[in-house]
Amino acid sequence: MAAIAFDNSYARLPERFYTRRAPTAVAQPGSIRVNHALATLLGIDPLWLESAEGTAVLAGNTLAAGSDPIATVYAGHQFGSYNPQLGDGRAILLGEVIGTDGIRYDIQLKGSGPTPYSRGGDGRAPLAAVLREYIVSEAMYALGLPTTRALAAVSTGEQVVRESFLPGAVLTRVARSHIRIGTFQFFAARQDVEALKLLVGHVLARHYPDAPGRGDNPALALLQQMIHAQAALIAQWQLLGFIHGVMNTDNMLLSGETIDYGPCAFMDEYQPDKVFSSIDHAGRYAYHNQPGIAHWNLAALAQALLPALHEDQEQAVALAQAAVDTFPERFSQAHRAGLARKLGLAEFLVTDQALADELFQLMAQHRLDFTLTFRRLADLAAPTEAGPGTTVEELFEIPDPLLPWLARWRERLSAEQTPATERQALMYTANPAFIPRNHLVEEALQAATQSGDFAPFNALVDTLAKPFAYDRALARYATPPRPEQAVTQTFCGT
Ligand code: AMP
Ligand code: MG
Repeated sequence: MAAIAFDNSYARLPERFYTRRAPTAVAQPGSIRVNHALATLLGIDPLWLESAEGTAVLAGNTLAAGSDPIATVYAGHQFGSYNPQLGDGRAILLGEVIGTDGIRYDIQLKGSGPTPYSRGGDGRAPLAAVLREYIVSEAMYALGLPTTRALAAVSTGEQVVRESFLPGAVLTRVARSHIRIGTFQFFAARQDVEALKLLVGHVLARHYPDAPGRGDNPALALLQQMIHAQAALIAQWQLLGFIHGVMNTDNMLLSGETIDYGPCAFMDEYQPDKVFSSIDHAGRYAYHNQPGIAHWNLAALAQALLPALHEDQEQAVALAQAAVDTFPERFSQAHRAGLARKLGLAEFLVTDQALADELFQLMAQHRLDFTLTFRRLADLAAPTEAGPGTTVEELFEIPDPLLPWLARWRERLSAEQTPATERQALMYTANPAFIPRNHLVEEALQAATQSGDFAPFNALVDTLAKPFAYDRALARYATPPRPEQAVTQTFCGT
């Protein structure tokens, strides 16, 4: 029996932080995919995870030694309305391990049966939702974003009842922690200041041990670190055309990782007001609203932290406000730095904002593919010696109306000293060729759910593991959808 070296710090917090609950066994566990590299990082033998014994653990049918399974409690603002009681309704934290990188990771089953927080839900997950999260979260990781990850997907041999009967599955999700803004809101709403302070200490020790000011005012130090982390994260989303789709406060992690791959999607054509989620009628979580929503969510965190920030309420509010007010500029800084990398600039001058804005305007006006536009700029940043097979030229060319802009961009580049090949190499690391395009994700999910064919899923996951390395043999994964292939809506899929 291979071991998982659990060390469960969250389960050592007081009992009001969670409910002890074992996963509910499934009829017939079947291994779909195990993430070998991630298993190795966690010090777990990937071959064992693929064995019948390992699969039984990943399905929730057996508990590994040292596991102390809990469902955690939290609250949250969903689409702007406060819900005082959420919690892991279809997820169970098996425990934590220290990775070979020295970082502590949660190992959580998602779709593992009901908990006290299921609110009438079945605690299960359909296969399509599990595979979507596997594909997109691992793609985000390969793109260099902080994100929860997928250790494994297993089938359950059971059906879940939604609008129709769907095959069920369990995802093993890995995160630096699953502590959310909503976790703080839960205790704040109960005026449980002791729990708030405990949670502040736990998060600081776990994620921000070097936070400046930690000794003087821990809650303020934590708030500031979270603001930095979210500014950096949301900037990266914007720079890749990623739309999260459900930025509720219970879906924002203190670790700064992206979580909840329900109705998310990457844009094909650039449209700043783009919304995919079928339930987001007002466009609250549209692409261009994401920085503003993050700011709003951080204000909700600050509000929850007030009693821990200062005994005097007025002073607490002043500290909270001053911290939250730094977000827009923090975000802009991170966004400008990212834009500079995407455009091949060593330095982002004040006048470069207009250059970037104009590009985005043209992209929107001509509905250009977000990913390929930037990838093509990287191609054009230096003469390519390797030939057409290594560029996206055959898939996308900068259209004529952009040529005057292109000339201005080249002129701007020539004002910097960076050698062209060096600039191009850097641009290739900021402008991926492969993103999880919705039509390819859909295609993979359909093959798996309708015919039990996991080959498209596996091929897609494999391709997205190297998003910056273009190769003509993989052209179909970089090609935008034809009009009839375009996916216009995504669903929470719970
Ligand atoms: P989410 O949409 O993933 O952010 O989930 C919001 C809340 O609904 C969380 O408390 C989930 O645990 C809960 N939930 C979502 N789907 C289910 C389900 N199938 N069974 C039980 N609880 C669920
Ligand atoms: Mg969620």
